Amino acid sequence: MRIGDIDVLPLSDGTFVARPEYFTTRVPETPGHPFDADGVAWLPIGCFLIRTGDRVILVDAGLGPVRQTLPHDMELVGGQLPVALRTSGVSAADITDVICTHLHADHVGWLFDRDGNATFPTANIWFGAGDGHHFVDGPGEMFDHIRQGFRNGSVALRALDHDHVVTAGVEIVRTPGHTPGHCAVIISSGLDRAMLVGDAITCPVQLTEPTWRSMGDVDPPLADRTREELWRELEDEHTIGTGAHFPELQFGRVLTGQGRTWST
Ligand SMILES: [Zn+2]
Repeated sequence: MRIGDIDVLPLSDGTFVARPEYFTTRVPETPGHPFDADGVAWLPIGCFLIRTGDRVILVDAGLGPVRQTLPHDMELVGGQLPVALRTSGVSAADITDVICTHLHADHVGWLFDRDGNATFPTANIWFGAGDGHHFVDGPGEMFDHIRQGFRNGSVALRALDHDHVVTAGVEIVRTPGHTPGHCAVIISSGLDRAMLVGDAITCPVQLTEPTWRSMGDVDPPLADRTREELWRELEDEHTIGTGAHFPELQFGRVLTGQGRTWST
């Protein structure tokens, strides 16, 4: 995927085996829902590699080499990100920046190993300050070795309480609600623009099913407002977007007319 002069490569760390209960719903009649005949959606655990100038930027760090079970027979299985990076010719030492859209387990899993040592030793780790307060210092759930990694000071942590341009064409913007410090990444070059929305939108079907909330939303009403703002931005004809769990990590945008539809 090229956004103007910037190279954006979707990678998956594994699979999120989701069921309708994740959206607190049943399988709907709506066309375009992601569930198969058994009511299961096989969603990716998405990460993105952005290469521009001398920067090699990883957006989200997957679940890591673990499984995570969720209620209602759902689970996440990680482990593929290192292979995906190697296949792309990128080593851990090449990564200059990791942007975590938020600090849920399936977005920080490869930041630190079992002993809390940094996987990307020379990278800046960018994340929303609100998520640092909630997950690292507060009540949010986090694996112990990841919390230890955040606390032991061996890596350059960059907590943001404002929007921030990481390098020309790559901006981190606040999109709170799913988590307190949730961020999206806007990639822009020339007229072209792409948004990586993290889990602010879990699945494009939420466009036509606006009452479907993510089970993980920390502040559901705020998450609803943020989702609606993102849909509106994705109505722009030069803007495309995708999320960390969009089926096949496909980019798309919102078409308006008789109702709104998602087009890939
Ligand atoms: Zn996620």
